[in-house]
Amino acid sequence: MYTIAQDSLRTLLDRLSRDYLLIAPVEEDGVTRLKPAKSGAEVSLDYGNTATSLKDFLFPQSEDLLRFVTDGTLTIEEIQPDRKQVAFGIRPCDLASVALMDKVLTTGEFSDAHYQARRDNTVLVGLGCESPADTCFCTSYGYNPGYSGGADLMLYKDGDNYLAEALTEKGRTLVGGPGEGLFKPADEASGEAVKKSYVEKEVPFGSEVKVEGIDKLLDNFFNDQYWDDVSRRCLNCGTCTYVCPTCHCFLLTDEARGGQGLRFRCWDSCMFANYTKMAGGHNPRPSKKERVRQRFMHKLNYYSHRYGSYLCTGCGRCVAKCPVGLHIAGVINDVKGVKAHA
Ligand code: SF4
Ligand code: SF4
Repeated sequence: MYTIAQDSLRTLLDRLSRDYLLIAPVEEDGVTRLKPAKSGAEVSLDYGNTATSLKDFLFPQSEDLLRFVTDGTLTIEEIQPDRKQVAFGIRPCDLASVALMDKVLTTGEFSDAHYQARRDNTVLVGLGCESPADTCFCTSYGYNPGYSGGADLMLYKDGDNYLAEALTEKGRTLVGGPGEGLFKPADEASGEAVKKSYVEKEVPFGSEVKVEGIDKLLDNFFNDQYWDDVSRRCLNCGTCTYVCPTCHCFLLTDEARGGQGLRFRCWDSCMFANYTKMAGGHNPRPSKKERVRQRFMHKLNYYSHRYGSYLCTGCGRCVAKCPVGLHIAGVINDVKGVKAHA
């Protein structure tokens, strides 16, 4: 374990911004988002969680996949993301989201080459949560404000300094390369005490959202009247899916003109009416009821049965952003309440 002073951390970020695409929390107009930063001075070190998530840089909102030429024969050129990037200041809930996305996009029969390339080219620097927001409920899923799974280098603010732990080879390379001369060895016992204080930090909303057993409860909930009632409020705006670090629906499009073309993908949303509409006009999810049900069943039932965990980390973004207050924490508690009174 190491310790690094705050001014040395800014020096590290300056150095990283020269060799990598530095992605970090940046405050603009009172909103802190993860975005490319040109220097350490631009980076905010005092924020709750970022309004946007790490997903934007591992699975971007739109992404070119290949170019093609059709001048008698077909020539295809794959576009491979090859920019090295460091994602700094990633909170524990977003670190946890990476493993959930990996299960879908890099394991099993199909692997997404573009996502995999970005994962390989990314160094993840986590930052423990000092003050969980009143919309956070990571502890409901077994994570916590000190959770470091998936981080290459994990930091915890400790007074005027940061405790640092290099957890992978990528993290050790950061400490020994760009971080040369900036990190000092930390006392192991004091370091463990700092980590423990984060792991045990209270997340008040987490104690209100009891997730245990929700996957099994939903096994027999598909046809419940609840979905008719709750979905009436939904605007199908898609905000919940766009801010979510684990939603990964996308749309593939080919655009061609004058014998040249481009294939790209962009985020889509199961909340949009056209998402499942087929060429012949049939739509298996024709109303808000089916779409709202799909979002929550996928996160709390289908994914759990397939991969053994929930497709949610309790980051609280949908809790904070849904314009009508229809969010996953409320649905979990509603379903438990409906079942308890059934
Ligand atoms: S649940 Fe809320 S954020 Fe999601 S689509 Fe409906 S209104 Fe929009
Ligand atoms: S469903 Fe909501 S709380 Fe869960 S990870 Fe997505 S945005 Fe965060």
